[in-house]
Amino acid sequence: MTTRVKNGRYGQYGGQYVPETLMTEIKRMDDAFREYKDDPEFKRELTDLLNNYANRPSMLYYAKRMSEDLGGAQIYLKREDLNHTGAHKINNVIGQALLAKRMGKTRLIAETGAGQHGVATATIAALFGMECEIFMGKEDTERQKLNVYRMELLGAKVHAVTAGSMVLKDAITAAMQEWTRRVADTFYVMGSATGPAPYPEMVHHFQSVISQEARKQIIKETGKLPDAVVACVGGGSNAIGSFAAFLDDKSVQLIGAEAAGKGVNTNQTAATIAKGSDGIFHGMKSIFLQDKNGQIDSVYSISAGLDYPGIGPEHAKLAVSKRAQYVDITDDEAVAAFEYIAKTEGIVAAIESSHAIAYVQKIAPAMQKNQIIICTLSGRGDKDVAAIAKYRGIKIDE
Ligand SMILES: *Cc1c(COP(=O)(O)O)cnc(C)c1O
Repeated sequence: MTTRVKNGRYGQYGGQYVPETLMTEIKRMDDAFREYKDDPEFKRELTDLLNNYANRPSMLYYAKRMSEDLGGAQIYLKREDLNHTGAHKINNVIGQALLAKRMGKTRLIAETGAGQHGVATATIAALFGMECEIFMGKEDTERQKLNVYRMELLGAKVHAVTAGSMVLKDAITAAMQEWTRRVADTFYVMGSATGPAPYPEMVHHFQSVISQEARKQIIKETGKLPDAVVACVGGGSNAIGSFAAFLDDKSVQLIGAEAAGKGVNTNQTAATIAKGSDGIFHGMKSIFLQDKNGQIDSVYSISAGLDYPGIGPEHAKLAVSKRAQYVDITDDEAVAAFEYIAKTEGIVAAIESSHAIAYVQKIAPAMQKNQIIICTLSGRGDKDVAAIAKYRGIKIDE
């Protein structure tokens, strides 16, 4: 299901907008990806790590209490929160790191926002005995001190990026610069379905395990396809992984939940599809939150993992072609959903994933009892507990 991309383009989106010095390296990476993605030995090693290290296949869990409480559709949760390191990010990191090894690389670099992708990359670098350097906005290193230490514990070096607004977009820029400086032994592990081709396609490929499993699991459990698949969208990796195996199933509605922050009518939002426009940034043509001069806006969401001013090019195409629908969920709605799923199902889900849950809460009641929703829980919410308490005005001593 990776053939929708032609020459790195998704309709008008995608492409490779990178400095000359990176073109040769990206071509090598693209060749390696094409050589190995269907190679039996590569696939065997990938599956072995996914199953025996990352804890796949992840459960497709029937959320009985939530389904009954909402009184409409039957709700199933795809439990990426149960993966090693607590989110879907590990699926993609294992794939890219294996590719890096095949290419003879000995050093992994990556960007990280809240720290989830950085932790996943540091984890696999430790497992593979590779050098690892993580770029993180200085602001984020201060907000996520625990994750910084976690990465260091795993043997990675964490760089606090002081350029720009010192957040995720600046970390990506810094990581790409570092890659340009030192390509010979270095592989840049991209954390979302973003960046120059072939990254969006690679991330789609490695994350599609989510929907390949879910499609089989739901058919086995219910004998039919779901009516809707809902996932949260930052750059779009867990969403594209959740949609991939259903793209040709026209009866399955695909829904991405974006972070509206304080609301799409405020400046404190990260709802790219709702408010963005076409542009070129971080090596790709896609949709971005930007001003009239193409200056990338600073974005806001309570959820650090959704706090990105753009979206991957395949989502831009799916939005324009209307194959997928993108909805916006505010901080308030996401926090309420975080609390709701904890109380009804006993699951503390990531605040990112809670955006998807919030949308399920909106649509499930109006659906029929024989209809099915699959909602991807992209990660676990332990990391968010303190922030939610703060949002509710509760003081917790750490
Ligand atoms: C990083 C992250 C996201 C957002 O990234 P996508 O590439 O859009 O999936 C969502 N949920 C969790 C738990 C994350 O760690």
